[in-house]
Amino acid sequence: MNSFVFPGNLDPAIAQVGAEPIPYMRTDFFSQINKESEQMLLELIHCKEGKTIIYTGSGTGAMSAVIENYASTKRKALVIDGGSFGHRWFQLCEYYGVPVVDYVVPFAEDIDYSNLETRIEIERPDILLCQHHETSSGQLFNLAEISRICQRFNISLVVDVISSFLAEELDMDALGIDICVTSTQKGLNIPPGLSIIFLSKRLKDYPFNHNGYYWDFETNLSNLERGQTPFSPATTIYLQLHARLKQLMAEGGEHNNIELVHQRAQCFRKLCKEYGWGVPAQTPSYAITGFQTRDSAERIIFKGLAEKYDTFIMPGGNPGFYRVSHMGLQTEEDLRTLASQIYELESTCR
Ligand SMILES: *Cc1c(COP(=O)(O)O)cnc(C)c1O
Repeated sequence: MNSFVFPGNLDPAIAQVGAEPIPYMRTDFFSQINKESEQMLLELIHCKEGKTIIYTGSGTGAMSAVIENYASTKRKALVIDGGSFGHRWFQLCEYYGVPVVDYVVPFAEDIDYSNLETRIEIERPDILLCQHHETSSGQLFNLAEISRICQRFNISLVVDVISSFLAEELDMDALGIDICVTSTQKGLNIPPGLSIIFLSKRLKDYPFNHNGYYWDFETNLSNLERGQTPFSPATTIYLQLHARLKQLMAEGGEHNNIELVHQRAQCFRKLCKEYGWGVPAQTPSYAITGFQTRDSAERIIFKGLAEKYDTFIMPGGNPGFYRVSHMGLQTEEDLRTLASQIYELESTCR
């Protein structure tokens, strides 16, 4: 199988960890793994003296945890709703009864930052939730601008970096971000199943709420003191996470991986240009390429790739709009092959 979806093609050494016997988790060995992973994660995202919580659960679980434990302690939230993932922040706020302003940004467009600033001056939220990269369109938001506005109005900033972590440069401390969330099946390029919360050191001793038993920050943090989780962890994926993080650190940190992702994205975007596919995102992230083909709602390209070539790309919300992830292992040769297959299938579309 050729995977251009999340998590993409895995490094064989990491995949192999998943085939090994599953260790018991209530041991010093597992505690050590957990603590080491935390330190490596904090280093990769530049969150000095912060904390992580690693949950068994998908990225949305971690997003929910943020609302239950943290956003619910605030007076008013503002959400950047630039697509289905931004909208999820809005839905979560509504679900938990957090007063929320839905700041809608049109599909694949960047934020009008001065308009946002004006709106914030009027609304005066005390927490802002956004995505770094809105994966539904491929649009990257400017965290430096968002952070500047948040600092001006003393707003706590929470960022879903699920699809930008390790694909885009990201310095949590420099941007003054209070909480980031990510999950394992995107930039980390290991199986889905774990999500990660990064808490900045400013939130040490913060009086979090207790609105969800499984996701409770305090329970999870106190167990983590001894490297443990309150409930059964997806042990194998914790081991794959640890192995992957060690790999990244051995390669000198996040920069090498980010550079690889950038090169793949640039290669594929050049091919999009050659084949005449537009990339609608105003400021596209390198994590994925979202591109417009002549395909219809029938998804001829998606089905053809799967049936003829055992190859998977991600359909988007609009007919003919597809997304190719650049976060799994892929060579430029793979991308050239993929593009020519898409082109061949597109020529059968009417
Ligand atoms: C993938 C993704 C999520 C979470 O999705 P899950 O399916 O719950 O892991 C959230 N936000 C963004 C931006 C994503 O790309």
